[in-house]
Amino acid sequence: MLKERGAISFAVDSGYIARMSKPTNLYSVRVTPASDAPPRTVDPCPVCQTTTVDPSFAIQGLESEIVVCQQCGLGRFSPAPSAEQIGDFYPDEYYGDTGRKFEGLVETLVRIVAARQARFLTRGLPEGARVLDVGCGRGVMLRAFADRGFEVHGTEYSEAATRGADPRATLHITPRLADAALPAASFDQIVLWHVFEHLPDPRETVEEIHRLLKPGGKCVIAVPNFSSLQARLTGAGWFHLDPPRHLFHFPVTALRQLLEQNGFDCLAEHHFSLRQNPFGWVQSALNRFSALPRNGLYVLLHRSSQSEKPFSRPQRWLFRLAFLLGMPIAVVLSVIAAILRQGATVTVVARRSSHSNLN
Ligand SMILES: [Zn+2]
Repeated sequence: MLKERGAISFAVDSGYIARMSKPTNLYSVRVTPASDAPPRTVDPCPVCQTTTVDPSFAIQGLESEIVVCQQCGLGRFSPAPSAEQIGDFYPDEYYGDTGRKFEGLVETLVRIVAARQARFLTRGLPEGARVLDVGCGRGVMLRAFADRGFEVHGTEYSEAATRGADPRATLHITPRLADAALPAASFDQIVLWHVFEHLPDPRETVEEIHRLLKPGGKCVIAVPNFSSLQARLTGAGWFHLDPPRHLFHFPVTALRQLLEQNGFDCLAEHHFSLRQNPFGWVQSALNRFSALPRNGLYVLLHRSSQSEKPFSRPQRWLFRLAFLLGMPIAVVLSVIAAILRQGATVTVVARRSSHSNLN
């Protein structure tokens, strides 16, 4: 880590996150609708500059809440946490040990799906093309890109996050993308795979991506879709709210707007993700409609060792049962949502326009 971790003061109850030092505990934080709260004025929206928002969800123990822009529908965490506070949301254990994050079988599936995604995302890129993965983490995608013969670079906020990353990748440990001081117009493709929603400065990040891409280069951003069927049906239970780590919640239209304002042409939207969307349905439905601990299924799959057993034995069996019965239904729902262009997560592919007068 480049930064020092200081005292945590991001709450009415200032010791709250400190007590939740295990990342699994952050997943269980309670989220409730702020249905009757009146609109309020906040800092300008990074997409549309509007300052009026509707409070949408309150987060247990935190002063900050999720508010929604009245103009473009962007959800955000407000008041925004400082850079130092954000670091405290990611204890080293968040990233798992030695480059693995999940139980064995799930980890294998994650790698297979990543390889499939890498193939899909880099169609048409010539061998040897330079690809940058922003927020590369333990490098699941980096490895898949390197396997396809690309020159791979990754940036990451936390050194601990990159443990076990593929040695073929050039890594830059840096708090913000711009701080990596990478050369202008040097990449053929830049990927932000479920990273953009974690960043405190979406507009500055898009500007920097524009600077780093070669003219005609592509930017691929995958985020949870705040305007999705899953987000709207499960409300406060939506798995991808992930407070306080997800600082922004993009309806797909707001993401496109931000890209188009900054010199990109949006080429495609993909609404189906086998890796993300079916699981999101099962976990969000459990969060919304059952009394089981919030995000418990995720925590159960996320545990770092077989000896560590979260929850009571009956609860663990209920989670497993819900997973087995729920996943087939969830796959069907995910296909329907994708056909309706309402996918729970969305991948937007945009090209740095050649006629843009931005640098
Ligand atoms: Zn807005």
